[in-house]
Amino acid sequence: TILLLLVLCFSVNASFSQNNKVEIDKKVSELLAKMTLEEKVGQMTQMTVTNFEAKGQPGVFDMVKLKEAIQNYHIGSMLNVPNPGAPTIQRWKEVITTINNEANKTRLKIPVLYGIDAIHGSSYTAGATLFPQQIGIAATFNTEIAKRGSEISAYETRASSIPWVFSPDLDLPRNPSWSRMWESFGEDAYLSSQMGAAMVAGFEGNDVGSKYHVASCMKHFIGYGSTTTGKDRTPSIIPERVLRQFDLTIYQAAIKAGSKSIMISSGEINGTPVHASKHLVTDILKNELGFQGVVVTDWKDIIYLYTRHKVAENNRDAVRISVMAGIDMSMVPEDYTFYTDLLDLVNKGEVPMSRIDDAVARILRMKYEVNLFQNNIADLKDYPKFGSQEFIDVAYNAAAESITLLKNTAAVLPLNKSEKILVTGPTANSMKYLNGGWSYNWQGENSDKYAADKSTVLEALENKIGKQNVLYTAGADLEKENEDEIQKAVALAKDASKIILCLGEKNYTETPGDISNLYLSKSQINLALALSKLNKPIILVLNEGRPRIISDFEDKMNAVVQCYLPGNEGARALADILYGDVNPSGRIPYNYPRYTNSLEKYNRKYTESLGDEEQNNDAQYQKSYSPQYEFGTGLSYTTFEYSNLAIDKSEINHTDAITVTVDVKNTGKRAGKEAVLLYLSDKVASITPEVKALKRFEKINLEPNQTKTVTFTLNQKDLQFVGEDLKWVAENGTFNIQIGTQNKNFVLK
Ligand code: BGC
Repeated sequence: TILLLLVLCFSVNASFSQNNKVEIDKKVSELLAKMTLEEKVGQMTQMTVTNFEAKGQPGVFDMVKLKEAIQNYHIGSMLNVPNPGAPTIQRWKEVITTINNEANKTRLKIPVLYGIDAIHGSSYTAGATLFPQQIGIAATFNTEIAKRGSEISAYETRASSIPWVFSPDLDLPRNPSWSRMWESFGEDAYLSSQMGAAMVAGFEGNDVGSKYHVASCMKHFIGYGSTTTGKDRTPSIIPERVLRQFDLTIYQAAIKAGSKSIMISSGEINGTPVHASKHLVTDILKNELGFQGVVVTDWKDIIYLYTRHKVAENNRDAVRISVMAGIDMSMVPEDYTFYTDLLDLVNKGEVPMSRIDDAVARILRMKYEVNLFQNNIADLKDYPKFGSQEFIDVAYNAAAESITLLKNTAAVLPLNKSEKILVTGPTANSMKYLNGGWSYNWQGENSDKYAADKSTVLEALENKIGKQNVLYTAGADLEKENEDEIQKAVALAKDASKIILCLGEKNYTETPGDISNLYLSKSQINLALALSKLNKPIILVLNEGRPRIISDFEDKMNAVVQCYLPGNEGARALADILYGDVNPSGRIPYNYPRYTNSLEKYNRKYTESLGDEEQNNDAQYQKSYSPQYEFGTGLSYTTFEYSNLAIDKSEINHTDAITVTVDVKNTGKRAGKEAVLLYLSDKVASITPEVKALKRFEKINLEPNQTKTVTFTLNQKDLQFVGEDLKWVAENGTFNIQIGTQNKNFVLK
């Protein structure tokens, strides 16, 4: 009966959303039929709210400009945050109401769609719950955390009267210098696809038009995170075969999860800016993947086809190229030349009306889907949980499951509460470094916006063991060298039995975050080296968005804890982990390089790390491969034992699924969470195989002595790769499965 009921519920739900879809499509075509060309082209324009600020009056609308934009130019969308940043939900309500009052005065009363960079919680609203940034969410290896976090983020964004977020980030960073690595889920395509889909599901929900869900925006399609130089918005060289095998699969999963929009990469691939690529945007994204949502440009990227990329003669040419490539909405064209040029292009037959209708239908559909025509302003009493303890606890748990113990020599951790500690390092007493970019403003440098009850690492440790047990001095600046500061820390350390050394990076995102040296700054390396001469145990706490090289002093650290950018509750979670009240369970979602010229990924090819070529066996080949910490590393205060790895068949054919089981036992004295990771390798293939590739993972919780059997099912798709003809193929031969240290082979016939 239960099964029957489930089936019934499912089909009722499915037909409900089907009806809804039919209804919405009908409304869209009726409205589209009423629109003039000017009204249509206006819908394709998105401007920043700061364009409409009265001169010299931060945060005040210039009503003449606003009227002109909405009533004369019919703009369809707006984004960004009004000055002075971090509006409350009441203030947001006023802002969005002012905008939509103007829309209500237009002939067709089409509401303006407001979008925001809410990327780790509703990060542009005062008092919102701030989660770990995506790189930390990936480290939890727990998709439920990703989903619940974005559900809360959706709730709080809707409480801010905003129905659209520019998240999740589905980029696949291939060079860790990249200044937006922390916005991604790390280096693995499978992990990114699972986490991305979970985040989309949390944002979008499955109740069309709900006042607690938002439209998500997958970004930045495609290859944005893979620049050759590692610098933001510089060119990438990515063969289509590789794009399809890795990057594209992440978008596919998020589209399947229901994401309503996508933002195009500001970069170029193989010489073609993505904004100019009909092949990528229309042929692959819209036609092949069947994406029906809105394709929005990134910041000013149409004009950049002319001014930066030099593939267009002028703005008009750039508009033609990008709209014909498949762009539906132009983010921040700055002035109305996008509007006037596009009108002219349609009038002269250079852009067909069908292309405009396709773009506008997508935009209108999204407006109906988020129920904007009826519900564009939040009724604040509908959002009693905004910033609530319930939500804060979720953010705390996310941080607690993300923080990753990378090294713990002689079980120096957990610490003993009665011992005096020195807390030092430039990131020890800052809220903004815990949160990173896109927090209250673009670079996240507004430290005064953090509520007084949120704690820095120093404050969390003082709360934990009492002020009398904590000594503190900054010890170093993030970048400027200062020997006096170091000497102060060295002097104070004499009175402490252990040192908590907090190192990391300042806030950054995008181009300003570019670096030329992946090593941690010299000022911080010097502090670490000076302290290490004291022969006291040092616990290195990293608070960084990308792996900054630490090999100059890592061997002198007794423990290493990676926090990533853990958000507002991160310091409390860290303190609980350092003192053993929480057992760490994060796993690092990228290879942490040891040297700047050794940037191999965990799923490298055999020849990326040639050892002794005379002895052609796997072990030898891997000799020169030695990241500081490999992808998936993450220690615990308990021990887990893997046994009985079994496969239900040792020989399969191309249609079989294969069931893999493994027993995981907690053999230590504490309860603990363990992310169980299944890797697959294709022994021989016509395209050089990866040494291993993550195919499944599951996070489980085990009491001492408890054993759980974890079951994974692999199917044909998991055995496939993209061949030279750009098609997915599974080739006959032997495959190896690895879980923990256990290995098993099977043969595909
Ligand atoms: C960034 C996007 C962001 C957009 C809107 C761009 O510069 O690349 O990630 O969503 O600005 O703020």
